[in-house]
Amino acid sequence: MSALTPDTPMKRVAVVGAGPAGLYAAEELVRQDRHRIHVDVLDRLPAPYGLVRYGVAPDHPRIKSITGSLRRILDHPRVRFLGAVALGADVTRQDLLDHYDAVVYAAGAAADRRLEVPGEDLPGSCSATAFVSWYSGHPDAPAPLPLDTERVAVVGAGNVALDLARVLTRPVADLERTDMPEPVLDALRASAVREVVVLARRGPWHARFTPKELRELVGLDGVDLVVDPRQLVPLEGLEPDRTAQTNLRILTEAAQRAPTGAPRRVELRFCARPLRLLGTDRVTGLEIERTTERPGATITGAGERETLTVGAVVRAVGYRGAPLDTVPFDPARGVVPNDKGRVLDADGALCPGEYVTGWLKRGPSGVVGTNKLDSAETVALLLDDLDERRPRRHPDLAGVLDRRGVRPIGLEGWSRIDTAERELGATRGRERTKIADWPTLLRLGKGPHPAREEPEELPWPS
Ligand SMILES: Cc1cc2nc3c(=O)[nH]c(=O)nc-3n(C[C@H](O)[C@H](O)[C@H](O)COP(=O)(O)OP(=O)(O)OC[C@H]3O[C@@H](n4cnc5c(N)ncnc54)[C@H](O)[C@@H]3O)c2cc1C
Repeated sequence: MSALTPDTPMKRVAVVGAGPAGLYAAEELVRQDRHRIHVDVLDRLPAPYGLVRYGVAPDHPRIKSITGSLRRILDHPRVRFLGAVALGADVTRQDLLDHYDAVVYAAGAAADRRLEVPGEDLPGSCSATAFVSWYSGHPDAPAPLPLDTERVAVVGAGNVALDLARVLTRPVADLERTDMPEPVLDALRASAVREVVVLARRGPWHARFTPKELRELVGLDGVDLVVDPRQLVPLEGLEPDRTAQTNLRILTEAAQRAPTGAPRRVELRFCARPLRLLGTDRVTGLEIERTTERPGATITGAGERETLTVGAVVRAVGYRGAPLDTVPFDPARGVVPNDKGRVLDADGALCPGEYVTGWLKRGPSGVVGTNKLDSAETVALLLDDLDERRPRRHPDLAGVLDRRGVRPIGLEGWSRIDTAERELGATRGRERTKIADWPTLLRLGKGPHPAREEPEELPWPS
């Protein structure tokens, strides 16, 4: 039986980040019946869904369709979306602590890990974060690489590296069905890239690809997957886990196939690490070294060096969290320090009323669904703590935003963007074409200014 009565006082919780972790936290907060909770979900972007919109590959529509169930969370009458409101720029940590009974940080891991090798900042070198954001239509992401080169190296051994290799080589006709913005498709149509070399520091038994992604790459029309069978012999004394065994089987079959002469190829190179990027004005090559490893030991350089002639290098060696205003932050791990989701300060003491979930809590690991369990853990503790806290009356954050001239994009505004993207897509026979520029997103999202009674402009990007 519900413990809520009409007199149960309303508690307010702010969730920072409308990605899966933030939205699953909002869902947990409104579906329980111990407290009557109103949730404000803030996001620095006009659009919700975090990396489901701006990370998951555009040619993976099944995973993208998770946005349908995430949208239902935003539709809950006690959930309010405050888009285009950034913690750190538009509101401070203290604002949130003053206006809410509890705050959940769910801002993800938008920064990237570096290779820490010379030449990394040359033009022609970029992070997976930048490249993925660009092809996903993130409004902060201009084209990070000129695709005027035949050969590109991707450094990394996870699914993001495979996403990059696939997007760079698969026939553009396949990508034209996706939600990619038109300028991205134009760049891929004009791309000179014929070969992608994926470099992994360790052997295939340690690769973090999932078999599904690997199979997809192996089976891609118009692309030959090349791997040297000598690299597929597991280390003596090492027992690969089930995923690694499946990956090894897929790779062994691929290695036995003769190249078909397809127009593009992806080479998977294991046990190779980058030493430096070569070039003066832009990347012209990548010096790599073969590595050796023993079970349980760190890898070492084997001394054998080689120079790959490549015109671009993308590093896909991991995402990491970035600091948020004055919220405690562990720069070494790239996360907000926490105990199962309760935020801890630099001395390890609890920060009352502050919580963290998702990639900002545990680092960049797991699939979308992993964040649901993670948010359930965080919210369970938050609710326990709310039992103990005295109810306070809080003014609405909207007052602060108004005084600062920050006009958030609410759910109606996001719906206008959503509709405009669907209509734009329909003109090209697609479900959606993303709008990637700030002015159009803000114009659509904010709609006509309420103070001026102008008719709504036709929401079309040029
Ligand atoms: C390239 C890539 C491909 C992936 N593909 C898959 C896949 O195929 N399948 C799968 O299951 N998982 C996939 N994942 C993993 C999945 O996307 C993550 O598990 C999930 O998105 C993490 O959720 P999150 O909410 O913690 O972070 P995010 O999704 O990053 O959401 C964080 C949100 O916080 C907002 N934010 C950041 N800073 C601020 C601020 N200062 N103020 C206000 N808001 C802020 C951001 O705008 C964003 O909306 C992929 C990840 C990447 C990077």
